[in-house]
Amino acid sequence: MKSYKAGKIQLFLPLPAIFGGLMGLMGWYFSIPIFTSLIPDGPTMKFNTALVFIILGSYLSLNQFFDSKRLLKVLLIFTLAFSLITILEYLNIFEISIDNFFIYDRHSSIYPGRMSPATAFSFLVLSTAALFYKSENQLVAGSIHVMLLMILGIALLSLITYILNIPAQNKVFFLSTMAFPTSVILILLNASILLQRPDFGFTSLMTSQYQGSKFIRLFMPFLLVFPIILSYCLIAMINNDSLNLDFGIILYTVVFIFISLSYTGVIALAFNTADEERKKLLVELESSNINLSQFKDAMDHVSLVTISDPKDIILYANKNFVKTSGYTLEELLGSTHDLLKSGHHNEMFYKKMWDRLKGGNVWSGDIKYKAKNGTPYWIHTAIIPFQDENQHIYQYLSLGTDITERKKAEELLSSQYVKKLEQKNVELEQLTSIASHDLQQPMQTIINYIDLMQLEFGAELPSEAKEYLDTIKAASRRNKMMIQQLLDYSKIGKKEKPTMVNCKALLEQLEQDLQYSIQETEAEIELDELPTIEAYESGIRSIFQNLISNAIKFQKKANKPKIHISAERKEDGWCFSVEDNGIGIDPKFSSRIFNIFYRLHSEDQFKGTGIGLAHCQKIVGLHGGRIWVDSGKKEGSKFKFIIPNHILHKIDTLNDMVK
Ligand code: ADP
Repeated sequence: MKSYKAGKIQLFLPLPAIFGGLMGLMGWYFSIPIFTSLIPDGPTMKFNTALVFIILGSYLSLNQFFDSKRLLKVLLIFTLAFSLITILEYLNIFEISIDNFFIYDRHSSIYPGRMSPATAFSFLVLSTAALFYKSENQLVAGSIHVMLLMILGIALLSLITYILNIPAQNKVFFLSTMAFPTSVILILLNASILLQRPDFGFTSLMTSQYQGSKFIRLFMPFLLVFPIILSYCLIAMINNDSLNLDFGIILYTVVFIFISLSYTGVIALAFNTADEERKKLLVELESSNINLSQFKDAMDHVSLVTISDPKDIILYANKNFVKTSGYTLEELLGSTHDLLKSGHHNEMFYKKMWDRLKGGNVWSGDIKYKAKNGTPYWIHTAIIPFQDENQHIYQYLSLGTDITERKKAEELLSSQYVKKLEQKNVELEQLTSIASHDLQQPMQTIINYIDLMQLEFGAELPSEAKEYLDTIKAASRRNKMMIQQLLDYSKIGKKEKPTMVNCKALLEQLEQDLQYSIQETEAEIELDELPTIEAYESGIRSIFQNLISNAIKFQKKANKPKIHISAERKEDGWCFSVEDNGIGIDPKFSSRIFNIFYRLHSEDQFKGTGIGLAHCQKIVGLHGGRIWVDSGKKEGSKFKFIIPNHILHKIDTLNDMVK
């Protein structure tokens, strides 16, 4: 049964016992009887009672904060001993005059100094309850619960005798000497212990949120107050002879029945109205349930649905999802979506997805899963995080559509495209290779004949003709070199397999190879931490060699080159950067400089043929990546290129390259 939390009230309930006990002790020590009875000439709270109140009150207060409960329990030995000895003395089993241990009672007429049997019995029950009420044994806890209710009744009875002004000699012996403050404090201590188990028996009935408990809570004040008022009036009227006893009792009964019926009638009416509301809500709920289940049926037909907890543990999977995954529902429930991972997506993909979801945002995208029998399948998924009122995510709803067929068609299309592309590439390479090979021969012939001419007729030739021949020879050599470079360009990427390339080691070795020009120009190269990647090693070496050589070469006169090489992890690969402090590149040429033989400067200004960056672009393209330059006109250049994670599967990027 759902119940209230006892809350702070439990903290305060034992405090009046400590306060009342202290007042009692003071009353006895300083002979102020009103401190012990609160009612002039009324029965007194005995010294031992006051003492036990202080001990029990302190125990119940400290027990809520203190850890070493065993130490506290020792306190209860005293309360048990006091109550037991008093009861045994009442039963005349023995007499040790425990009442005179601390103080001698001169006020009380009957049993001076001795607490009433009802008080002693109450202490016995309260001490036992303080020790064992939380016991897991239902019989023990249940018996204590009944005993607690019993002494609650006794204390209430005693309190009512005071409210109704019943003289001590008219009360039953059992509780005739129980003082007014003692009755009140006993009720509070009792409530404090009962609330230790708010889910138990009568306490639960009083505190739960159910209709019956609400009813009893509404009825209780009436039940406690009304009969007392009625009895008070009856006794007063009988005492001043305005009513005789017989008629008084008849009147009491009739008035009680009438008022009780009216009161319960009002409460019942309120409950009936609430019940009507509840029924209306139930009907509305049922109809929205029907709507929901129709909605769910519709979704089950078209979507793959899962609900998972914040740790991605699957709590629900619809039939469609179960069928497509090939697993049984039992296998899926309790596992995470990791069970279905195909290995297609990298860690970064999932990290990005979870970052978005944990931020409370919807994520959508295509995921490749693997069915139980190993067949891969694609789902276009939207994952929606559900948050409670404190913005805590308590579950994820994932709605997906199977797009395997679409993906297959796309892959087929791109593989056909790649095949066509490869064929065209082969044709192109053959053409370039044949053309450049055939072009080399005539060039060599020209150079040979110029050499021959200079050797045989050199002395007879006029100086102008000699100069012309030198120019023709230089141009022919340059032409031959360009043809050779074209040939090299067409061969890039042939017959090489990707390996794991340690970029840091590769660059350190490259620094050695370029030692001559580095020393000559006093260049400084700063290397950051660089990764090991899967790539074509000679290609990566060639890219860095070209970029570093350019960075050293394209400098203002007397400027010492400074080069900074770094790498950054991106979602789809590694992005490398080679930055220099050279002459910079006008942004309007930033894409043209990657064209074959394209140069921004004459041979006199800076030596070169304009094929280095074309080489770099072709190599990066073979990896499925891209290369670009960030440059201000005069502020140095920053060349960047991305080498993707999976260079062998980048069919899409190959397409991009061709476009
Ligand atoms: P080359 O170095 O033989 O001229 P590249 O293809 O390597 O050929 O470069 C093409 C052109 O791009 C160069 O001629 C130069 O104008 C420009 N360039 C390349 N790298 C740099 C750089 N680091 N700083 C300034 N300009 C550069």
